[in-house]
Formats: sequence, C-alpha cells, structure tokens
Amino acid sequence: MKVNKVLEIKKGSARVLEMNVAAPVSGFVRVRQTIAPNCIEHRVYKTGFLEWHETSSSLGHEGVGVIEAVGPGETKYQVGDRVVIFQGWACGDCWVCENGLGATHCINLKGPQQVEEANHSESGGAGFCEYRLVPNNMLAKIPDNLPDKYATAANCLIGCTYTPVREHHVTQEHVCVVGGVGFIGLATIVNLKYRGAKVIAIGRDTKRMARAAELGADVIINSEDEDWLAQVKEHTIDGRGADFSFECSGYPYYQQRCLDSLRHYGTMVQLGYAADQGPDLKWELNTECGICWSKKTITASFDVDFRHRREILETLCDPWMQDKIDKLVTHTFPMSRAAEAFELLNDRNSVNEFVGKIHLIPGE
Ligand SMILES: [Zn+2]
Ligand SMILES: [Zn+2]
Repeated sequence: MKVNKVLEIKKGSARVLEMNVAAPVSGFVRVRQTIAPNCIEHRVYKTGFLEWHETSSSLGHEGVGVIEAVGPGETKYQVGDRVVIFQGWACGDCWVCENGLGATHCINLKGPQQVEEANHSESGGAGFCEYRLVPNNMLAKIPDNLPDKYATAANCLIGCTYTPVREHHVTQEHVCVVGGVGFIGLATIVNLKYRGAKVIAIGRDTKRMARAAELGADVIINSEDEDWLAQVKEHTIDGRGADFSFECSGYPYYQQRCLDSLRHYGTMVQLGYAADQGPDLKWELNTECGICWSKKTITASFDVDFRHRREILETLCDPWMQDKIDKLVTHTFPMSRAAEAFELLNDRNSVNEFVGKIHLIPGE
C-alpha cells in the first residue's frame, strides 16, 4: 500500500485527503499523474450534485503521467512509460469496443469504484489523485517529443472533439455551425479549422466569442440577434444552411439553433453535456417539420474513439495545434488549491480574463 493524495469535492469545498492505494493487479498499471485536467467537476463544487460520480472522492476522469508500477504479466507497458489516460473502463469485448469506437459508449462501461474493487484499493480509480490505477486498454503512450501539457489535450479537449469531426469526414468544402462556445465548442472550432472547414460560431459571451475568432472561426454570430438564422444562412451556399452543426452546450437553447441552422440532409452532432440538470432534461422537438421533411440527422459523441488514439497523438505534435492548445488551456493550479480553480470557473462570466480549460497538478 502507498499513500495517495485524493481530491474530495463537496458543495463549496475541495480538499486533499490521504488515502491508501494498492499495487496494480493483472491487467492494470499505476500511473503517477502529472496533470489532472478539470472537465465538469467545478459544477459539483458549485451544487454538491455528483451527477454520475459515485462518491465525493471519485471525481475527475482525464489525465497524463508516468507508469510507476505494472500488474503481474504486463507486456504492453513498462515502468517509466509516459501515457495519456482515457476515461472509464471499457470492456474491450463488446460490439463498440471490437469496432474501435468510443470507450465511453462501451456497452459494459465500468467506473472508478469498479477499478478500485478490482485492485482491492481504497483509492486510485478516478482522475483527481496523484497515483491512479488504470486498465491497460485505457492508455496510450505519449510520443517522446510531445510535452504532457499538449498530450493531455487528447482527453476532453482536442480528443473528444476530434472523433466527431473525423468520423463525419469534414473537409474544406463544408460549412459548420458551432453552438455554445465553452472549451468544448472552442476545441471543436480548432478541429474543424484543422480540416479546413468554414466555421460559423454562435454564442453570447463576448470573451468566449473573441477567443473563438482568435482560434479561427470565420463568422461570429450573436445567438440573441433576432435575425441570427438569416445571418447563418447568408454564409452558406445559396442560403441553404450549414452542412453540419456541433452542439456544445447540452441545452435546448443551442440544440434548437443547431438543428435550425442545418441544410436539408444536414447532420447535427450533440457534444454538450448538461448532466448537472439531472437525467430528465428534455428538448421538445417538432419531428415532422424539424427532422423528417428536411431529412436531418441528429447524433452524439462524447469521446475519442479507440481507433483514433494514435492519430490524435500525432495531431497533437503539430505546432499549429499546440499554439491553439495554448489559447484553450488558460490556467494551472496545484491540486491543493483546486477550490480557487473551481471558483474561477464558476465566476468565469464575471471576471475580466478569458477562462478556458484548467489543469490541476496532483501531488502539489
Ligand atoms: Zn465494451
Ligand atoms: Zn472530460
């Protein structure tokens, strides 16, 4: 057993606990994490609502670090390997896993508590800790020339937004709308520009929209403008509407706008995640006129696919991409000061600076 620093988050409180972490069993490795990025955990600090998390000390799901112990019989990884950790524990055997699709969409997906149970460990299953136990199918080796700061963008930044853009074969001939511009929306803009698409960003927050323009969005539209849809259409061929829209808030406000922005036969991809609203958040939809006659498709994506893991790490080595990540990741805090990070995120609309993705440093 080893002492692990683990972040416990409750409403208005974030503190580091000391818990035991076990040696990894077969099929697992133990990683000393160097960066634990924040994703949606500031919402738990704000409301106390755990969303899908099991306990207040099993939060966080993104990470990078160095392997410092491997389970018996491990052949793929060794001590000293630098790795990206992908979220969850996918089975590796179901239809989704066998096809190399998204681990988060695995039919038998397991969570941090099951990782801890399998390893007979008190901690280490979730992301906000120093020593993390990880199933060996949820790792990817980091190329030697890729610093940790950029490698961890393979998680919920450039990674989870890479797969939907890649799998829909977006190219320079497409016009894409991005609705709801937080760090996921901004990262989607980066992936779309990487593939040469024309990007129309719709949103309300002036600081975020300014950052969207800096990241290469071609058109910025205020979603509160009465004629916002006419403005969108003006930037598409013959005013027909966008080829794709990427909904990045999870709320009906942008879902409806993203659907309305599409041309006939267009595709809307739902990337936003509003689990803080509980499992019953609904979007009322006129299906007959909203989807059927115009033959639109609505789909979703939450994760980077297994089959894209090597590609995304190569992409992150590109200096163009690294320049964009520097504009997306705005703050770094020691994990012991996580409360300050969460407060900054929860107040981000009222502070002067742009607040994007925040990295926590475990063990500090
Ligand atoms: Zn599976
Ligand atoms: Zn995430």
